[in-house]
Amino acid sequence: MEKGLISVDRWTKGSQAYFLTHLHADHTQGLTSTWAEGPLFCSRLTAKLFPFRFPNFRLSLLRILDLGSWHSISLISPSTGSRVTVEVLAIDAHHCPGAVMFLFRGEFGCLLYTGDFRWEICSERAKVGREILFNALKDSEVDILYLDNTYCNPSFAFPSREVAAKQVVDIIASHPDHDIIIGIDSLGKEDLLLHIAQALDTKIWVWPERLQTMHLLGFYDIFTTQTSLTRVRAVPRYSFSIETLEGLNTIRPTIGIMPSGLPWLIKPPKGDDKLSGSFLTCRYNRSKMGPNGGMQTDKLSGILGSVERFHKYMYSVPYSDHSCYAEIEQFIKLVQPTNMKGILSSSSCYVDPLYYFGRLCGLNLSSSRFDRTHQKKGGKRIVSSSSTEVTKRRKKSLGHLGGRLSRVHSLRRSQRGAKIAENDCPD
Ligand SMILES: [Zn+2]
Repeated sequence: MEKGLISVDRWTKGSQAYFLTHLHADHTQGLTSTWAEGPLFCSRLTAKLFPFRFPNFRLSLLRILDLGSWHSISLISPSTGSRVTVEVLAIDAHHCPGAVMFLFRGEFGCLLYTGDFRWEICSERAKVGREILFNALKDSEVDILYLDNTYCNPSFAFPSREVAAKQVVDIIASHPDHDIIIGIDSLGKEDLLLHIAQALDTKIWVWPERLQTMHLLGFYDIFTTQTSLTRVRAVPRYSFSIETLEGLNTIRPTIGIMPSGLPWLIKPPKGDDKLSGSFLTCRYNRSKMGPNGGMQTDKLSGILGSVERFHKYMYSVPYSDHSCYAEIEQFIKLVQPTNMKGILSSSSCYVDPLYYFGRLCGLNLSSSRFDRTHQKKGGKRIVSSSSTEVTKRRKKSLGHLGGRLSRVHSLRRSQRGAKIAENDCPD
């Protein structure tokens, strides 16, 4: 795609249309209440949450993309001055409220930008998204996949959120006399909190701004800001530390639960024996420390992404809103892009998805698909025998997902996003 047309999750000058996948801070860096560089496209739910996050934003700039429907946007080519049509499809990313992926197509070809996403194999909701994507890809071949590569490493294996939510409930239930604090972000993990509230028949404390968000999301009865009403509190992740828990335990017995695909690292700060907890940036940095070294690992279950008790007051539960390695692999097998690029591009644990999955990309697939001339019209592939092969392989891939579709789905402080341009993907 020509430069100067669209940007996704990137807010600098120079594009004609801007797309927001979701409202997490690492995707909105540079976006402010006074930002006015152009129309901003997002999902309906993101638009609903937007004014709370960016008060006084000029709302006339917001353009709502309903999920599952193609929208056509008319732009002007900066180089020729001629009209360029970009078609865009928003698909549920199953990440946090309002999060979507964007599938773009036009004369430039077809691009898929996942934003942050969770590609769960068994979730009913994810099946709807998979169906929409599968149908859209029937006549579009993805030239570049911009992929959420947060956990793009085989060491990241964790269960579905449903399973992880049960692990959290088990921990809480096995500490009947403890206060519980759970670290969450300003958006996301609502399903986990709802599951806890239902399973244990309890309200959950949240901080005042979070309560407003919960009300915007339509949850009125479950959450409260009154500490006397519940022993379960969801607190901002940044305020969640072993020091905090140690302080709380001088008042009342309290345990902390951190739901995340990332493990914890406990290390003594320089010149201090006291423990402090922080997120690892890479699982492979994890080190085992002896009984006197501070780290305690108490595996409560041993298969995928087990619960770990890193400290007497602290549990880590692998409840993740990002895809694990196996899910990323399944997704790439379905999409079969010609090329791809990770959207998380500046981090100590950045992994170029081509390193592990380049073999699944069109560049490396059999010649039957790629020796042909790429004939495209308005971004739609002219169906050929080779594209039928692609569809067959996608169906096969969906079969592995166990879906009915074949018959009928911190760390990340660095900025994400892309100005979409044809030279934006590594060769
Ligand atoms: Zn996110």
